[in-house]
Amino acid sequence: MLFICKNLSNITPIQNNQMIIRIDDIGASTKKFNQHGKKLFKWKDFPVFYFPLANFWFFKRIWPFKEWAPYGELTKGEWEVLLKIFKESNMKPIIAITACWVDEKNNLIPFPEKFPEEADILKRAFKNDEIIIANHGLTHCVVGKHLPNFWKSNRQFHREFWPYLDEKIHNEHIMKSQEILEKYFEKPIEVFVPPGNVWSKKTYEALKETNIKKVMSKNYMLDSNEKMETIDFIDDKKDFFNLHDMELKVYGPKWLKEKIAILIQKDNNQ
Ligand SMILES: [Zn+2]
Repeated sequence: MLFICKNLSNITPIQNNQMIIRIDDIGASTKKFNQHGKKLFKWKDFPVFYFPLANFWFFKRIWPFKEWAPYGELTKGEWEVLLKIFKESNMKPIIAITACWVDEKNNLIPFPEKFPEEADILKRAFKNDEIIIANHGLTHCVVGKHLPNFWKSNRQFHREFWPYLDEKIHNEHIMKSQEILEKYFEKPIEVFVPPGNVWSKKTYEALKETNIKKVMSKNYMLDSNEKMETIDFIDDKKDFFNLHDMELKVYGPKWLKEKIAILIQKDNNQ
């Protein structure tokens, strides 16, 4: 049985029984600003400790309450190690990039400008057919609402394509992100991964005007069951090993190798 998505190189249909590995949040400022704390602690499914102030001020940024941000972007050196692991494991991961970093003043900085070394190593890998680049939004967030809140979690604003947002925003964000990624990577971008699995009929309408051929998400559009005509929906709840750069940053390459070994073992047993 084939293990990984070799046939995704030109985005032909994904075959059965192929595990796909995907890494999200590359280039996204959600890794800096999506700050929320863990209130409930469990031991073997039993609640043992509840800390109502987990989202207050600095608590959400420190262990053991910190649930997400802040953490750093993957460096060129870290990518070299990771790409080597994927190559040795005969895997072609999907790398989902957010086209712009959003800073404290709502400025949008294109990925190749913000992280030129990382962009360069990924561009070479994409050209060599070692990885697939996917669009993971323009901002990953609702711009202007993305900064940490003093009292509470801002997690809901670290999703970009809410149905309540204007059609114009969906359009602009899809068009601009495709333009930035395709111009830099010099290849069509054909996979869209909606940040936080949040997307709408308005997002789909915008995607129709692009080279996107597949939407990968845990759920369908939030506000419509309309069947898509020119784009495939890929439910990524099964046959996917989805992770974020966060896990790679925190647990490192050794953890990744162990995970891959387990996946291969499982795949061989099927
Ligand atoms: Zn994401």
